[in-house]
Amino acid sequence: MNVVGYGGGTNSTAMLIGLWQRRIPVDLILFADPGGEQPHTYAYLEIMDRWLAEHGMPPITRVWYTTRDGQRLTLEQECLRSASLPSIAYGYKKCSLKHKVSPQEKFCRHDPHCQKVWAGGGRVVKFIGYDAGEPERRERVRERDEADRKYQKEYPLMEWGWDRDRCIQAIQEAGLPLPGKSSCFFCPSMKRREIRTLYHRYPELLGRALAMEDRARPHLTSIKGLGRNWAWREFLEHDKGQLAFPQVFPEDNLPCSCGGGHHMSPAILVKAAASILTNEKSRKAVGWVLTAVLSPIILLLAFFCTTFSGGAEHNRTVVDLCFHGGAVPEGTPAEYQAYIQEMRDSFALLDAAMQAVEGQMEEGDGLDDIRVKAVFFALYFGADDPAAHAGQAFVDCFVTYEERTRTVTTVDEEGNEVETQETYTVAVSISDFQQVWQNIRHLTGAEATPEQQANADSVYNVVKYGASTGTEGWIPGTDVPFIGADGFCSPIGAGWESRVTSEFGYRRDPFTGETRGHTGMDLAVPTGTPVRAALPGTVTAAQYHSSYGYYVMIDHGNGLSTLYAHNSQLLVRVGQTVETGDIVSLSGSTGRSTGPHLHFEVRVNGQRTNPRYYLPTTSYEE
Ligand SMILES: [Zn+2]
Repeated sequence: MNVVGYGGGTNSTAMLIGLWQRRIPVDLILFADPGGEQPHTYAYLEIMDRWLAEHGMPPITRVWYTTRDGQRLTLEQECLRSASLPSIAYGYKKCSLKHKVSPQEKFCRHDPHCQKVWAGGGRVVKFIGYDAGEPERRERVRERDEADRKYQKEYPLMEWGWDRDRCIQAIQEAGLPLPGKSSCFFCPSMKRREIRTLYHRYPELLGRALAMEDRARPHLTSIKGLGRNWAWREFLEHDKGQLAFPQVFPEDNLPCSCGGGHHMSPAILVKAAASILTNEKSRKAVGWVLTAVLSPIILLLAFFCTTFSGGAEHNRTVVDLCFHGGAVPEGTPAEYQAYIQEMRDSFALLDAAMQAVEGQMEEGDGLDDIRVKAVFFALYFGADDPAAHAGQAFVDCFVTYEERTRTVTTVDEEGNEVETQETYTVAVSISDFQQVWQNIRHLTGAEATPEQQANADSVYNVVKYGASTGTEGWIPGTDVPFIGADGFCSPIGAGWESRVTSEFGYRRDPFTGETRGHTGMDLAVPTGTPVRAALPGTVTAAQYHSSYGYYVMIDHGNGLSTLYAHNSQLLVRVGQTVETGDIVSLSGSTGRSTGPHLHFEVRVNGQRTNPRYYLPTTSYEE
């Protein structure tokens, strides 16, 4: 008796395909439905049922939680009734146990085939879709699995060595669309960017999630809302303030401000930005979105670009000055000079601390000093006394300490060589960047904002790769669609963060040297890189434009659209419908462009907005 717990996501879909390919019999496929899955998941069950029927496999059996009197109770109903939030909001996993695990177990308890296996003293085989890239998940449940008398748990994806990319490949080769992640539309694990997408894709569902939160809020003590330490409603209201921002980019006949169009005078920009940066009160009044856009780095980049453009040696960015030294340009306000000096002093302290930590590392391991400094820069540039934070405690956020034993040979009193076991501590660098941010939160007691995290990435890339857009050859990752939990697909695959060469917001125009708004995000990719649709939708433009070059625009409904510019080749026509991850064009450098890159825009009701608010992050959990 072989049972598959089907989750409606990438891994378990790939697992079913792999089981079929290997002719491993499957008797029962269970999908536990908490009643609050997003529409794309329910739609996918239908698609999968058709595929299963065509391949001689059993259909998906939907199961759900029922009360003692046999009535179905959805997680949403349960929360509304008790004026509470899903238990995961409070830090427990009870909601998934109750609505995902237990309905499947209950079904099996009453299933005559399973009962027969148990009556004969056997165990029912249950296939679980952990992929090969997450061995620690398997380890965590190993003991419990071994003690299980009713189920023999199997992890075929791990056995086959299928990681997430391999799973995606298997689904595509099977001719199936990608499922995206399954998640309740009110899941407290949802990230801010995912809530934004929910807002556009399923406004009615978002309304229901907010209703749940509103109902629970008077009773909340330890948490603030569906976001745990923040409320979804507050976040959305804050976010609406963002709509004021795109007005900086007046709508004109030229859709792309990579080209001509209006712009603010650099002097006004610097003055406005400087007053916001230096005044805490006005920073608060302006709101977090505008401050984020005018964050110290971007602001100072703008500052240096505008004030000192011309002479090459004057045109050094503040990042460059902090990381590589050199004379600070004349005329720089004393305040900024002090910030730069403080950052240099802090970097010297960090270098010493990193050296100490690396002394405790084993051969082959090491710290990425640019990464450590970039994070520090994003957190503390312009802060009061940054040097106070530049110690070993900060560097420790990038490592874990492990106890290890080794055999050492010593000479005893009689002159004989003896081998003894010695315990020692080793520092191991952390590769999971989310873990680093978590450690920083523990250290500082405050969560780094998404903008600070994004700035840390930008600084890292500027220092490590320079801001050059010229790239040659193929980049790994762009052949596989990279889709977030909300179904939003990166146009150029995973790792887009390291390809950003120009952020949405202010930048220096490469043609005129003047500072002006940038209406999208530039991602450096070699010519010919596949460019993918961010969401399902209808192509509304596929043509040549003097600024955008060959560009594609897709309408995703509910006021959301995306635009892909500077392509070398268009692969779709106006009116065509596309699915998430479909290749719509090949990147290039047409139109007003200084090198091969994708100019990517996200528009909300016609207003350009920061694509970073939507692009999926690399931390992905099924
Ligand atoms: Zn651009």
